[in-house]
Amino acid sequence: MLNIVLMGPPGAGKGTHAMWMAKDYAIPHISTGDMFREAMASGSELGNQIKDIINSGGLVSDDLTCALVKERLSRKDCENGYLLDGFPRTPAQAEALKTFGKEINREVNLVINIGAPDELLIQRIAGRRVCPKCGASFNVNTMKPKVEGICDVCGAELIQRKDDNEESFKVRLTNYYKSTAPLMEFYKNEGVLNDFDGSIEATDLKKVITDCLEAHK
Ligand code: AMP
Repeated sequence: MLNIVLMGPPGAGKGTHAMWMAKDYAIPHISTGDMFREAMASGSELGNQIKDIINSGGLVSDDLTCALVKERLSRKDCENGYLLDGFPRTPAQAEALKTFGKEINREVNLVINIGAPDELLIQRIAGRRVCPKCGASFNVNTMKPKVEGICDVCGAELIQRKDDNEESFKVRLTNYYKSTAPLMEFYKNEGVLNDFDGSIEATDLKKVITDCLEAHK
């Protein structure tokens, strides 16, 4: 069974690789960023509450995020594995996941950590265009869609995320180094950490991640 946490700085390729991993291994892709963006798009109370934090690149509170993830992981579709993308992002979230994971029988058994140098992350984020409908990710320089501005997967019009600007990116990267990067040590101690180089070609990275998943499934 694959109970996976996908980690890495913004722009490392988490979203791109999460899509095929979830499909090929038939496990739900649970992205806290997508959940928050859906809440914002729906205009719900939660959405209004988190809008300013997200657009400026800040982190949503641990309590709120953990409650959302615990509820989502408790659902039946996660009983044969799951792929968590963008959670945990702080030591408190990692500790909470460890505790409630045991409680609901959803303990993490594999961490895929994708790293890449800052200069590359900045370039990727600046050129990133995403599909608001299916979540697919493209890049105007390096991963162009077949038809400019249109999602290859579902045909929706691509957009640039509001937090994919230089200012918000700097905040997100600072938060990553301060709060999320320390989780590598946490998961290394748990014996589940697997490091990957996110600067190589996406097809090559897919191959090495697949080898890792095959060895653990
Ligand atoms: P992402 O799509 O993973 O880049 O997430 C987009 C934004 O959602 C982040 O910059 C945060 O503002 C918020 N977010 C996503 N996941 C978390 C989390 N685990 N904890 C706190 N905030 C989060």
